[in-house]
Amino acid sequence: MSENLNVEEIFAENVFTVAKMKQRLPKKVFAEVKKVMDNGGELSIEIADVVAKAMKDWAIEKGATHYTHWFQPLTGITAEKHDAFVTHPDADGRMLMEFSGKELIKGEPDASSFPSGGLRATFEARGYTAWDCTSPAFLKESSTGAILCIPTAFCSYKGEALDKKTPLLRSMEALSEQALRIVRLFGNKEAKKVIASVGAEQEYFLVDREKYLQRKDLIYAGRTLFGALPPKGQEMEDHYFGVIRERIGIFMKDLNIELWKLGVTAKTQHNEVAPAQHELAPIYETANIAVDHNQLVMETMKRVAQHHGMTCLLHEKPFDGVNGSGKHDNWSICTDNGINMLDPGDTPNENIQFLLVLACIIKAVDIHGDLLRQSASDVGNDHRLGANEAPPAIISMFLGEQLEDVVKQLVETGEAKTCKDGGVLETGVKTLPDLMKDATDRNRTSPFAFTGNKFEFRMVGSADSIASPNTTLNSIVAEAFCEAADVLEKAEDFDMAVHDLIKEYLSKHQRIIFNGNGYSEEWVKEAERRGLPNIKSMVDAVETLTTEKSIKLFEKFGIFTKAELESREEVLYETYTKTINIEALTMIDMATKQIIPAVIKYTTTLANSLSSVRAACEIADVSAQSELLVEVSALLAESKKALKELQRVTPQAAAKKNAKEMAFAYKDIVVPAMEALRKPVDKLEMLVDKEAWPMPSYGDLIFEV
Ligand code: ADP
Ligand code: MG
Repeated sequence: MSENLNVEEIFAENVFTVAKMKQRLPKKVFAEVKKVMDNGGELSIEIADVVAKAMKDWAIEKGATHYTHWFQPLTGITAEKHDAFVTHPDADGRMLMEFSGKELIKGEPDASSFPSGGLRATFEARGYTAWDCTSPAFLKESSTGAILCIPTAFCSYKGEALDKKTPLLRSMEALSEQALRIVRLFGNKEAKKVIASVGAEQEYFLVDREKYLQRKDLIYAGRTLFGALPPKGQEMEDHYFGVIRERIGIFMKDLNIELWKLGVTAKTQHNEVAPAQHELAPIYETANIAVDHNQLVMETMKRVAQHHGMTCLLHEKPFDGVNGSGKHDNWSICTDNGINMLDPGDTPNENIQFLLVLACIIKAVDIHGDLLRQSASDVGNDHRLGANEAPPAIISMFLGEQLEDVVKQLVETGEAKTCKDGGVLETGVKTLPDLMKDATDRNRTSPFAFTGNKFEFRMVGSADSIASPNTTLNSIVAEAFCEAADVLEKAEDFDMAVHDLIKEYLSKHQRIIFNGNGYSEEWVKEAERRGLPNIKSMVDAVETLTTEKSIKLFEKFGIFTKAELESREEVLYETYTKTINIEALTMIDMATKQIIPAVIKYTTTLANSLSSVRAACEIADVSAQSELLVEVSALLAESKKALKELQRVTPQAAAKKNAKEMAFAYKDIVVPAMEALRKPVDKLEMLVDKEAWPMPSYGDLIFEV
């Protein structure tokens, strides 16, 4: 435990960093690669050959045997197919490990089994992966040995995006182009691009692997489908930020080392609200790298947990009635000459560029709240959004006292003369210093909160890729910037025009601003009054992708074509259907083969006890046994009936004729039938002898890790 850990030394040890490239490549080649990394464009095959050789030599020195084009299909996780560097032996039977430029920049996995939503029929299976040279190659060490991973985008033969990365990269370019027009208007001539930065806080659960393996629901669905609450939950608030237990601490230490080696800046770690729930946050970085790194974080969490006899649950709601997991997506935009466009400065009321940017974002979030909501939806997140732990399903924006006041002044009078500051926080203790306060307090209930110099989009689910939320954010803000620049570039009196535009945007779109309690029932009513959409589930959100407004937005900036959007809709419906189908079948399996037999056995034990006690002593009071027997038998009958109903409706939903109808049938018919089965079973778990219950309980899983 006390070995000296040199973090500076191990950091990015397994990454082919720009520094390593510089060191290993001839000057001219490096300059060429750097140019493409910074400004886009294509590498010539000669240059690619040199880069590939340097990359391979480095990887082989570190023990790599294979390479892979690492990509992010629409499954939401990553995909890889390993190819060894081995080549055909020469006449003397000697083999030289090789890796060509062609292999580096382009791959062609047989892509027919990845979801494509009809974009590609199975007979047109060609899919291509293309190197995203702005995200560095890295070495993944696992039981298969060291594998050189090349981050790639994944497209069809016709160039349609089949992944989460391609649209993200397109949206980053669109945002950069439009944001540059804004900063130019304010005299910034030096900036060459504007970069979206992202920091994703990742929540997760850890459970004991032996216990995990005794629960089919955790194995197949990643969440518990049955389970009664233990006597103690999270009400004492003793887990949040509590002392990290030894077993978890060793895991975290290992996880950090693995992540640092991969160049992930794992920074913050703490216990979360629920028992067995934890969080890790890295330092923010360029959006596409942050997306890649978040995938690596999730994957590494799972792998390292296994080394420690645990399983990492990334599902949004592994345990009913216990806090779920999310992923706060912190987002900001910064010029390449270091200006954070979301930094209000000390006096935001005088910072016109900031106010314009803010007004544009308020407008974007108001117009496209539905798309943001969609981007944060996945099957698991349906259990969270709107429940009392996560932001509601309604998109609103928290600005904090200071900015809200500035906005109010602007809307009312067209001018913001004053600006509230934080002031001093008096601690009331002589030996403690008084602290300068931030100008705004936090609001944990807002789905989209301004937090000083960034926005925090808190709706995203813990298991989901952060690619879609960031693609959406970049796109909608690019559109608002574009529309503002269209007006302002033509204005004769710029100062007047910008003033009017800010006032106009804020007045029109202020309904999206809400600083109160987003969890309250009043807010749901108030939001309805304001006309804000309240999209309750993932399947209800799917259609927002192909509204006229959405197609116009995404096609205008070349982020998605209509066909790509339609294909994504199809994939989302299919994903929902498949997921719920697995859950329903798992419940049927567990109820049929484990729970009902266990309860029947238990009723027999009760009946035996009843008759033998009675036989032994006629006047003995056997009311406890008989009451229990009556109660358990009634719940058993109810469970069996609910099981039968679930068995009846599941194939009915599966028989619907198209993806959309099927998804809705699963949501409206199968999900309620699952809930109806769960209810009596959970009651039984509270009554039946613990020894007789066929699987570990919630208490066993979350309190005894
Ligand atoms: P919180 O306020 O939620 O406790 P922190 O201030 O620690 O969180 O930041 C959470 C995440 O936000 C981290 O990943 C951090 O790197 C990221 N972050 C901080 N500043 C920015 C920024 N300007 N742009 C994007 N992400 C940022
Ligand atoms: Mg946060």
